[in-house]
Amino acid sequence: MPGLFIDVEVADSVRGDAELAKKLEEVCPVDIYTATGAGVEIREEQLDECVLCELCLEAAPPGTVKVIKLYAGGAALER
Ligand code: SF4
Repeated sequence: MPGLFIDVEVADSVRGDAELAKKLEEVCPVDIYTATGAGVEIREEQLDECVLCELCLEAAPPGTVKVIKLYAGGAALER
């Protein structure tokens, strides 16, 4: 089940990038990203644990990862 408060969107170019997947898995303090070897999976049950630290945004190329605050009308953190 997706998060009630937070959603995360990852561009296709990142979704299938195994190296970037590892980086995202490493930086997220609440384990929202899982590196599968073939790319990254979002663990939906963890989404609401997001602490808005922006480390995932810093780790990925600009414009490829978006953290959406569903509780704030869909305002997004992105870079
Ligand atoms: S903003 Fe921080 S806590 Fe939220 S998904 Fe990105 S790395 Fe994880």
